[in-house]
Amino acid sequence: MNHRVCPQCGSEHIDFETGYITGKYRCFDCGYVGSVIFEFDDKNYERFLKQLKGEGEK
Ligand SMILES: [Zn+2]
Repeated sequence: MNHRVCPQCGSEHIDFETGYITGKYRCFDCGYVGSVIFEFDDKNYERFLKQLKGEGEK
């Protein structure tokens, strides 16, 4: 299964906004708005979340 996640906080709670030429994604958790999101499979998503948490602890 693929995960489409926010590049800032790793949340899957994102929505695609139309109305722009290319469209933009919005994250409901951190407020990120942009044309870039990350896509992971299960394994890489888990790794990405661990990286996010690891950086937060430093
Ligand atoms: Zn976010």
